[in-house]
Parts: sequence; C-alpha cells; structure tokens
Amino acid sequence: TSYGFREVPSGEKQGLVNDVFHKVARRYDIMNDVMSMGMHRVWKDAMVAALNPRKDSGYKVLDVAGGTGDIAFRIVEASNRLAHATVLDINGSMLGVGAERADKKKLRDNLTFIEANAESLPFEAGTFDAYTIAFGIRNVPHIDVALLEAHRVLKRGGRLLVLEFSEVDMPLLDKVYEAWSFNAIPRFGKAITGDAEPYQYLVESIRKFPNQENFAEMIRNAGFSRVTYTSYTGGIAALHSGWKL
Ligand code: SAM
Repeated sequence: TSYGFREVPSGEKQGLVNDVFHKVARRYDIMNDVMSMGMHRVWKDAMVAALNPRKDSGYKVLDVAGGTGDIAFRIVEASNRLAHATVLDINGSMLGVGAERADKKKLRDNLTFIEANAESLPFEAGTFDAYTIAFGIRNVPHIDVALLEAHRVLKRGGRLLVLEFSEVDMPLLDKVYEAWSFNAIPRFGKAITGDAEPYQYLVESIRKFPNQENFAEMIRNAGFSRVTYTSYTGGIAALHSGWKL
C-alpha cells in the first residue's frame, strides 16, 4: 500500500488487535485524549444524546467492544442510573480497567462486564433495547457477521448505533488529519508502549474502513431499517443508526 504497511490477513488481524489493547489497557483512556485531542469525548456524548436512553430500570443496552466503559457509563448516567448496560469486549485487560472505573463511579449495580467476541454473542435473540459499539467495529475481522449478531440480539423496535472513524470530506482537514494519524499516532504509541507496529495497523484499519455511504449499505444488508448517519468533525468520525423493525 502507499503507506508501506503490510497487508494483515484476517486470521492474524484479531491477534494484532488483542495485542494492542492488552498493552495499552492501563493507559488507554489517556491515549484516547491525546490521540483525538479530546474529541472522542464530544463524539461519545453526541452518540449517547442520539440514543436518548429510556429512564427505566427495564431498559437494557449492550455496548460491544466496550473496553474501559466510556459509552456504558454515559448511557447509565443519561438514564438517571436506571438503565442496565452490558459491557462486552474480547479483551479482559480492557474490561478489568472498566470494572475498576465502574467501582469508583459507584455504577457497578448498573453494569455487567462480559469477555466475548462481537462475532458470536453469548445472548439469546431479542434480548436488548439497544446495541452500541464505539470505535470497535473496525477492529472486528468479519464486520458483516458482527452486524448480523447485533440484529439477532436486539428486540423488535431495538436500535443499533455505531460510532466509528469515517471518511473526512473537508478539504485541508483531510491533509492535516492524514499527517496527524499516519505520523503522530504510531509515534505516540511507540513512546507509550514501546512498539509502533500495532498502531500503524490500527491507523491503517481506519483508512480501510468503508466510508459513510458504504457502511450504511452494510448495515442495511444485515437487516436493519431506517439506516441514517451523521458525520462529526468533518467526517473524522460518523455515527450510524439503524432499527430492527
Ligand atoms: N468502546 C470503547 C471506547 O470507545 O473507548 C473502546 C474502543 S477500543 C478503540 C476497541 C475495543 O474493541 C478494544 O477494547 C478491543 O479489545 C475491542 N475488540 C476488538 N475486537 C473485538 C471483537 N472481535 N469482539 C469484541 N471486542 C473487540
């Protein structure tokens, strides 16, 4: 490829991803602030505002690739601490940090942490009112399979929300963004964890991820209705929404 990254076969992909997040789990939250210059907070707040969780103790959300809990904590708070969120991640190190944070915030009763794969969810069909995934689906080797699983575990009338890096559609910003992501992010990664390669892979995965329209089409193909999206910060990130009707 033009950036000199090697192609990662899908069988190897999950291993590389797991490597990155085991290494960074402890420093993940601070790295997010550094690498996104704080923007991830704004995007996550917007995602949870779009979800507008019901203030009701029967409301159940599944936050996949939930990592250290950022989305789940926001959802529980937005429901006046009534909703229940299940934080699912393939990586026990990330979940461990999330569980500690949940204790500190006294949110433990509203949360369940589960180590599992987005491609094979350990829940019955029709379990959740909402399925959220933030900056996670790009890391999953078979995105189509993860989307089918999302559809399966949602109740009828349930909502899918996906927050992910997307295609920058603003002149100039795209150049600045490329320079930032292809140079700064692997450097920070190396400085903080001692290894740049996994970060190069993550940056490459952003570049390969389908743009807003193409990803909307993938969501429709998984059976979702009324699929829409909103670009944030000139398209650096986008929120996709779909319904199981
Ligand atoms: N959602 C959190 C946030 O926005 O701060 C964490 C996002 S982090 C960039 C990506 C997460 O995806 C990591 O915690 C990683 O372990 C998880 N992940 C990667 N592949 C996965 C898979 N196949 N199933 C579930 N989680 C996965």
